Amino acid sequence: MKTLPHVLDGVVIASEIKAEVAREVADLTARGIRPGLAVILVGEVPASQIYVRSKVKTCGELGIFSEMITPPESVTTDEMLATVAKLNARDDIDGILIQLPLPKHVDTKRLLEAVSPDKDVDGFHPVNAGRLQSGQPGLQPCTPAGIIEILKRSGLPVAGQNAVVVGRSDIVGKPAALMLLNESATVTVCHSKTRDLPSVTRQADILVAAIGRPGYVSANMVKPGATLIDVGINRLTDPADVQRFFPGDAERAATLAKRGSIIVGDIDPAAFDLSAAYTPVPGGVGALTIAMLMHNTVKAAKLRRGIGTESR
Ligand code: NDP
Repeated sequence: MKTLPHVLDGVVIASEIKAEVAREVADLTARGIRPGLAVILVGEVPASQIYVRSKVKTCGELGIFSEMITPPESVTTDEMLATVAKLNARDDIDGILIQLPLPKHVDTKRLLEAVSPDKDVDGFHPVNAGRLQSGQPGLQPCTPAGIIEILKRSGLPVAGQNAVVVGRSDIVGKPAALMLLNESATVTVCHSKTRDLPSVTRQADILVAAIGRPGYVSANMVKPGATLIDVGINRLTDPADVQRFFPGDAERAATLAKRGSIIVGDIDPAAFDLSAAYTPVPGGVGALTIAMLMHNTVKAAKLRRGIGTESR
């Protein structure tokens, strides 16, 4: 009889991490150090407002101080730089998060580089990218850090495994590949110019898909028994697409009818059946991102004060 693949439940793992962070926050607060996160949200982008609200709410639940700064859409790069400079100088702020995307007239790269690397809880600053590359302690991007947490906490071996990462963005693919390499996997990074992608992905014991194309990794691109990590978050609005990816799934059809869209990852759900373990979408990698942000805020509070932290 075929064994069913193991579902790597991001919601459960995120709860574990949040409980650990809450304990660390309580310990630090008892020593007079209350970790603090500043979130800058420019303008009124509804999706960004939802993300930021949920980050601020989670801070409250875990005992982390949070402050929201909400400049108008018309804010200039110089005004934003002045805000970041003030936050860099404040002792009660350990983490600074600039919610992306920013309006087109604001220089995003310049701003992200203006955040003190020690308060860069998104792990996007080139100094932190360099620390990751050279295996030094630093703040690491939340989504790929979540992938490593899922693998480790699920007891899945990484050292010596063939890991294939599809996608090479600075926020997911590249750091995920480096983190897997730091965990001693044999890592291949693929992208849009990769020749014969299926022949590469079929070598993967651990396949990470961070592409941004609905269901792009099909069953014939997957080695039976692989671990599938699906980072993609794609919205399907066409009933024909929903039927193609989720044939006969009445629940999803109902959600589509009610909300006008459903979410699918970068891996065709049909491929999950072949795997030994996989992260569902939603409820997999995405569920960990805020937990890792909270983890990074506490880590930043400790690193800045020279209090010992584990290397991740
Ligand atoms: P980007 O668009 O920045 O990067 C996509 C990568 O996929 C690029 O490196 C691109 O290659 C590669 N790619 C595109 N098409 C192909 C193809 N046909 N074959 C092989 N590679 C291809 O996306 P992100 O990294 O920001 O995000 C990836 C996905 O993850 C998205 O669905 C996004 O929504 C999701 N995401 C989820 C998060 C979460 O919390 N779960 C957080 C962040 C992102 P090239 O470099 O050559 O163009």
